[in-house]
Amino acid sequence: MSIHEECGVFGVMAAEPCDVAGISYYGLYALQHRGQESCGIVVNDDGVFASHKDLGLVGEVFSAEILSSLPKGTMAVAHARYGTTGGTNRNNCQPLEVNHQKGRMALAHNGNLSNAAELRNELELSGAIFHTTSDTETIAYIITKERLTAPSIEEAVSRAMNVLDGAYSLVLMSPQKLVCARDPYGFRPLCYGKTANGIYVVASESCALKAVGAEVVRDVEPGEILVFSKEGVVSRKEHCGRREKRLCIFEYIYFARPDSVIDGVSVHASRVKAGEILFKTHPVRADVVIGAPDSGLDAALGFSQESGIPYGIGLIKNKYIGRTFIAPGQGARLDGVKIKLAAVEESVRGKRVVLVDDSIVRGNTMGRVVKLLRDAGAKEVHVRISSPPFLYPCYYGTDIDSQEHLIACKHSIPEIARIIGADSLGYLPVESLSALIGNRGFCRACFSGDYPTKIPSDTRKDRFEQRLSEKEK
Ligand code: SF4
Repeated sequence: MSIHEECGVFGVMAAEPCDVAGISYYGLYALQHRGQESCGIVVNDDGVFASHKDLGLVGEVFSAEILSSLPKGTMAVAHARYGTTGGTNRNNCQPLEVNHQKGRMALAHNGNLSNAAELRNELELSGAIFHTTSDTETIAYIITKERLTAPSIEEAVSRAMNVLDGAYSLVLMSPQKLVCARDPYGFRPLCYGKTANGIYVVASESCALKAVGAEVVRDVEPGEILVFSKEGVVSRKEHCGRREKRLCIFEYIYFARPDSVIDGVSVHASRVKAGEILFKTHPVRADVVIGAPDSGLDAALGFSQESGIPYGIGLIKNKYIGRTFIAPGQGARLDGVKIKLAAVEESVRGKRVVLVDDSIVRGNTMGRVVKLLRDAGAKEVHVRISSPPFLYPCYYGTDIDSQEHLIACKHSIPEIARIIGADSLGYLPVESLSALIGNRGFCRACFSGDYPTKIPSDTRKDRFEQRLSEKEK
């Protein structure tokens, strides 16, 4: 419930100039759940780039006036950001725009490189100067450096992929082409579609394709590069088959929108399945099953269907809490959770309640939610979690924390139940994860410690800022 999503990327390619900024705006709205810190759109108007980026939600950053000030064009790249590397400041807003020897490039990135610090250090030692503290600039630098000798932008991307390690779904634009690429493990989702009037659209999730009226063509394959130009779509797969696929399983459990389909699997269906498994592995006698909004709702439905225990609406989320919400100070004796969530007394009073949520990180929030339900009159509260316990941090673009902050690293499951005030607690077994998405390769490193790549040496979110201040001393 308190894990932040990573980022959403979006791209448009049309044969004739049209309102690509407007299409991107709607696409970003559909991807807002993936990042709420900042957003931006870069339009390509016959090789001339125009952009607008800022801190804030899509609706805050793009007024009607700003949107209409962006020109028509044949291409656009757009981004919604939650920064997992680099601080929240305007410099780190994406898409990143660079001018280089062969022209211009705008780049939007979702994921985290696991060798970003090493790559950046090497580049700095050879004279590179960086303007941001996000690893996206490292990717841009390597691509533009390769472009000096590569015959095309896609060849430069291909060469860059030989040195990039970790998670990246990229959408980038040169004056002539829109290019997208997914890392060889396929950690983060990326798909493309086409509208009835022939406009190609690339997005982190299929929900954004649908939002702009495009039909999904397919997911970009791990290691694949797709090039969209006036000549059509060309696929390059020289990186395919080299790595075992490791799509982030937490995309299904929490990050993605339930109406998205990733690599052929419905996010909603995978969550319902998780709920069914939870009942089979951790059954309980109860009167009502409720989900923690929003990502616990689908799994709660699955738990209810499998158990026959009625599904109810027990918690309501305040939908109007945004990035600028100020948590009450300690002295205020107010609970921020109560502003964000409210219990529906009618649903829970006098009842044995099963509360289904996607995860427990530190346990503080879950403890307060259990208390909310008890205060509303719940007789018993049984917590079921549609993921296994977090035992390891994530290095691939989410902010699953260091082990010292993960409650499951310090306490047994009965102890956690006691700490959060639940009558019982059950997690999805780690061996059940594969049942959520069928016979597909996936990453589960935050549950198992089985990392597909080398673990980065410096994992702080602000590692580049820290390194700068250390150098200045
Ligand atoms: Fe996803 Fe966890 Fe792997 Fe990170 S470590 S990519 S959150 S499954």
